Amino acid sequence: MRKIIVLLGAPGSGKGTQAVFIKEMGFKHISTGEILREEVKKGTELGKRVKSIMEKGELVSDDIINELMFNVVRENSGGLLFDGYPRNITQAESFDEFLKGENLKVDYVIYLDVSEDICKKRLSGRFFCPECKKDYNIYFSPPKNDRLCDNCGKELIQRDDDKENVVEERLKVYFEKTYPLIEYYEKKKVLYRVNGEKDVIEIKEDIEKILKNGSIKEG
Ligand SMILES: [Zn+2]
Repeated sequence: MRKIIVLLGAPGSGKGTQAVFIKEMGFKHISTGEILREEVKKGTELGKRVKSIMEKGELVSDDIINELMFNVVRENSGGLLFDGYPRNITQAESFDEFLKGENLKVDYVIYLDVSEDICKKRLSGRFFCPECKKDYNIYFSPPKNDRLCDNCGKELIQRDDDKENVVEERLKVYFEKTYPLIEYYEKKKVLYRVNGEKDVIEIKEDIEKILKNGSIKEG
């Protein structure tokens, strides 16, 4: 039976890492950002519209995102893992309605539960060496000397996306728009909470158990 998974979690919850593991379990990884970039590259009518929206720095509308994701479901016959979709209640409702028409449904919503404080530290703590590219996190894997690379002594730098004000904005948008999906899917009895603060391999094993038994408990 064809299964559809939605991976939910705040920025910094470790979705990217777990998506790779779930992909290895045989699900096709559908990343919203990647689908948008591909559509632009293909130069379709929709792709051209997306390109002009993104060039203006505007947000791609729910209707366009829905249309692209529905196409993904139509064009793929195997299990799918959605990462970054749905992003809000409106998208989730449209997705459910569409899937119903295809005799499908969202089977599992895997929610990586990580406190806001940890997410913030994982993202805003990221620094790297401009010389040897070594990665650090000033909270979890700091250099020996304040903000200096252990290998070459260069001063560490930070990507703009990881700066504290940007991270705070990303988390704010997530809690306003995406977080309500947890309650939405809980009511539909397809939500599975996974403690996302554990070791990555333990999280992977918890997800495997859910997909195999429908619960984290051995079964
Ligand atoms: Zn270095």
